[in-house]
Amino acid sequence: MVIYSPLLAPHILARRLQSGRACITELGLEQRCPRCGEFWPWDTEFFGVASDATRLSSWCRGCLNEHYQQLRVAGQHHDSKAERGGDR
Ligand SMILES: [Zn+2]
Repeated sequence: MVIYSPLLAPHILARRLQSGRACITELGLEQRCPRCGEFWPWDTEFFGVASDATRLSSWCRGCLNEHYQQLRVAGQHHDSKAERGGDR
């Protein structure tokens, strides 16, 4: 998997920095995931890629995975297999 961070237009970046959705640390640009409220490095390692592949999704990968998992579970008919796999 190639890791990259898409460039943001300067006015978009400025707006995000101003609104607190993004911050610049010693590691570079980080953005806050609106779902879990955590800051993550703004690249494809930590954020999903939007469908056009030039932008990142606003949710972090952890939240995307959780979301898709919930969709899958919601779309499934519950059978006895669903009882297993509690890892908390
Ligand atoms: Zn998140």
